[in-house]
Amino acid sequence: MTSFPAQAIRVRDSTLPLHRRLYALRECALHCAPYGFRATWHHLIVSARIPRRLEDDPDALVRAADELQRVRDVVLPRAQAYAARRRGEKAVGVRVPQSAPPWYSWGWCGIAYCPDPKHHPTPPLATVVQAVLDRHAAGLSVETHCLACGRERRRPGRACPTCGAHPDGPAARWRAPSDGDGWGRIWRRDVG
Ligand SMILES: [Zn+2]
Repeated sequence: MTSFPAQAIRVRDSTLPLHRRLYALRECALHCAPYGFRATWHHLIVSARIPRRLEDDPDALVRAADELQRVRDVVLPRAQAYAARRRGEKAVGVRVPQSAPPWYSWGWCGIAYCPDPKHHPTPPLATVVQAVLDRHAAGLSVETHCLACGRERRRPGRACPTCGAHPDGPAARWRAPSDGDGWGRIWRRDVG
């Protein structure tokens, strides 16, 4: 079982070895990565204060899983409602969605995709995701505004200079900095 709920149970299971719980958290973040996996992972390390030595604070893993769960709580009802509406539209012959919400084309792994893993919004993930969905629902265009922070976009096709979110979503991945060492340090939770 590799679904988010199954992996979240493993993260919270204090009878499992800590490295297994860490890898279960990684699976959760692969399923639910609003900034893309690497930037979401960096955010979780910082926000949940996951220490380099996991045994120093095992509850940090649970805090991170809780933060991801709150994102799912925001997105899941809307995604299900949207899927139901699309089924209805297709049944009457509407093949192309009129206005696709951010999760429709990118999946959940890029609602506010940030190509630089260390440059992403700082509020709680669920707060940012809610703001993206609200701005989208209000009719703001990703062409003219950063949906993650609301800032007016002055240079189209660039990551937001304020919060790091890229209007192209995960398609911007190839423009990410090729900073292999940087990712290694993030993975080792050496971000201080
Ligand atoms: Zn922004």
